[in-house]
Amino acid sequence: MIPYARQHVTAADVEAVVATLESDFLTQGPAVPRFEDAVAAGVGAQHAVAMNSATAALHVACLALGLGRGDLLWTVPNTFVASANCARFCGAEVDFVDIDPATWCLSVSCLEEKLARAERLGRLPKVVVPVHFGGQPTDQEAIYALSQRFGFKVLEDASHSIGASRNREPVGSCRWADVAVFSFHPVKIITSGEGGMALTNNVQLAETMRLLRSHGITRDATHLDPAADAGPWYYEQQALGFNYRLTDIQAALGLSQFGRLEANVARRNALAERYNTALAALPLRLPVIAGGSRSAFHLYVVRVDTARASRRRRDVLGGLRRRGIGASLHYLPVHLQPYYQALGFAEGYCPEAEAHGREAITLPLYVALDESQQDEVVEALREEFA
Ligand SMILES: *Cc1c(COP(=O)(O)O)cnc(C)c1O
Repeated sequence: MIPYARQHVTAADVEAVVATLESDFLTQGPAVPRFEDAVAAGVGAQHAVAMNSATAALHVACLALGLGRGDLLWTVPNTFVASANCARFCGAEVDFVDIDPATWCLSVSCLEEKLARAERLGRLPKVVVPVHFGGQPTDQEAIYALSQRFGFKVLEDASHSIGASRNREPVGSCRWADVAVFSFHPVKIITSGEGGMALTNNVQLAETMRLLRSHGITRDATHLDPAADAGPWYYEQQALGFNYRLTDIQAALGLSQFGRLEANVARRNALAERYNTALAALPLRLPVIAGGSRSAFHLYVVRVDTARASRRRRDVLGGLRRRGIGASLHYLPVHLQPYYQALGFAEGYCPEAEAHGREAITLPLYVALDESQQDEVVEALREEFA
């Protein structure tokens, strides 16, 4: 089976991990800040806080942004469930904004209309989570302008898009966001096994997120009670935090992988370009990348063009899998997951995301996919539509 995604681990990665195993630190030690500093410098953000998943980073970012009971977080349905669940972890409510039919990312015009309605009803969101679907950056500048007008915080779920940029602004720089979060799950662009990272230019948010990732405990002398009998043994729990630490083993792998980010993203773009050419004649809608944007191409998603195609998505997806192509679906809209339906969401709420969910097919795309395997995927699709 050719999977839809797969990690790429080199001898240098293995060496970095082994060196850490033989060092003094296994869990969070010197490799974690090295990894954080490299990513922060690489994307042009001031602070980076590594955690053991993007889900953990989204949770802690929501808490740092003050999200709690009675508050609202808005995101898109065309995403992984964690983009919405992070609000539920904090006791907040979730609502969904539909996607743009061209880019399949958050629709800025839907967001603007919904904000105007919410303002009249006195139910504005505290946090909005745009998602760079498949690796394509959303229009952060426009979303940020709306956040200034309507008074919400912007938390970018950049799990798909480390290495992407829009108008030469790297995703994760937080120029147009309060916090951005990367994922280092093995299917993503670079991996640390499991792992995530929150980026921000706000020192207060960075300190809160650092506190919450490790039990709410600090040993930083500048933050301790000056009257305490402090020594190297002394620490204070100042908030209710979690164990969301990344291990040094994972950070060593992540840092080694980060060194190949540019090459990985270039390879992904080259393979995407090759798919675009090879699939042009099939009854499919291919990914459209907005002018001035560079996608990280975490995913290569096509949509069955129902007006031109003789076959249904279900049958094509099943057919591909029978032919040994591990095609997948990103995403079944989050609001139609049973958990969210039980909260009152139903079919018809976000028509564009629902159409996407009925038509989308994720084709294999990863660094080690070679041209002959890619040709196999293309051939299988041609036969499915023949
Ligand atoms: C993968 C993913 C996450 C969760 O990442 P983990 O590191 O596995 O917790 C969150 N949001 C999106 C959009 C993702 O694709």
